[in-house]
Amino acid sequence: MNPPFQIDPKLRRYPVRTGELLQAWDAADEILLAHLAGMASLGKKVLIIGDTFGALSLAIPGATSYTDSFLSAEAIRMNGANAVRVVNRLEDFHGPYDLVVVRVPKNLSFLEDTLARLSHQVAPGTKLVAGYMLKHQANGAFDLIEKYFGATTTSLAKKKARLIFADFERGPVSSPYPLAVSMPGFELPFVNHSNVFSRERLDIGTRFFLEHIPVGPFATILDLGCGNGVVGITAKKINLLSRVIFTDESRMALDSAEANFRAIFPSATDDATFRWTNAYTEGRPESVDLVLCNPPFHQGATVGDFVAREMFADAHRVLTPGGLLRVIGNTHLRYPSALRNVFGNSEVVASNAKFQIVDAIKL
Ligand code: SAM
Repeated sequence: MNPPFQIDPKLRRYPVRTGELLQAWDAADEILLAHLAGMASLGKKVLIIGDTFGALSLAIPGATSYTDSFLSAEAIRMNGANAVRVVNRLEDFHGPYDLVVVRVPKNLSFLEDTLARLSHQVAPGTKLVAGYMLKHQANGAFDLIEKYFGATTTSLAKKKARLIFADFERGPVSSPYPLAVSMPGFELPFVNHSNVFSRERLDIGTRFFLEHIPVGPFATILDLGCGNGVVGITAKKINLLSRVIFTDESRMALDSAEANFRAIFPSATDDATFRWTNAYTEGRPESVDLVLCNPPFHQGATVGDFVAREMFADAHRVLTPGGLLRVIGNTHLRYPSALRNVFGNSEVVASNAKFQIVDAIKL
């Protein structure tokens, strides 16, 4: 076990990528831990929110760690050999906490939802210490912490990171999330949790993709990186006999997809599978006939097409021979050549000013 408040230099990112040199913590983790080391006492019950790869969770023994991200939960588990209690839903907060340590997310809706749920699980005087990298910070975080928690003070910036401090002095409030969002082509509004992609309205890329969902027969369809599930649900609407698998690394995405699927297809025969996972790592080879994918272009704060490429490799593995992967992306992302590398073929089947829809067949 590490001494408390130290970052284990062996800490690794998950998924482990050969040749990747990126460090698994940043200066915000370092200054958070340096601050905690100087506190007289952390109190008995500590909650960590939004740890990325385990730097905080492993350095604060006995704390509970909340993350919406499968990749973070796996990193914490991999680095900490299950020594840390990790929870993945906001409903899993069980206070009252003495101290809450937060990595401020870029998504302020998610921060607001988290703070509102937290307001029921803290007591007057509960301390909050939040850390962020200056380049990722949205100023609205201060306003939200003031609104839901209490008056804020801040540290000096160090190594381009900074802390926000507050003591709880408000009362319990209801969260404004999830949202009920109307979707073109659906009578019922969709349930969108606060950390779901394009939570306030249908994304314009997704809208274009929905116009190009193929008609089968497909025994099994995979919605890879499903968000609120609108792609897989639309595929089910036009392929009523297909079984749909939804995967996402965000717990809130899957919870939204499941709520939306069950509301639209309440019959037991319309079953579907929901997997909180990395891409579709555990998918059996040759078990899927159609994969639909609108890939992410970042993992957390790291931007790039590496997640897309891992998704293409998983899609290739799980597709049956002759099976189809259909992908949408911004034209500048060059998915046709990335897909050719994995599948040996690719074809642009539709495009508009901004997006391309690209097919690849498992040979
Ligand atoms: N399919 C939805 C749509 O078209 O509206 C969402 C698409 S959004 C561009 C990409 C989705 O991939 C997000 O929901 C994100 O949480 C998910 N994602 C990101 N990294 C992932 C990973 N490593 N494994 C699985 N899902 C991931």
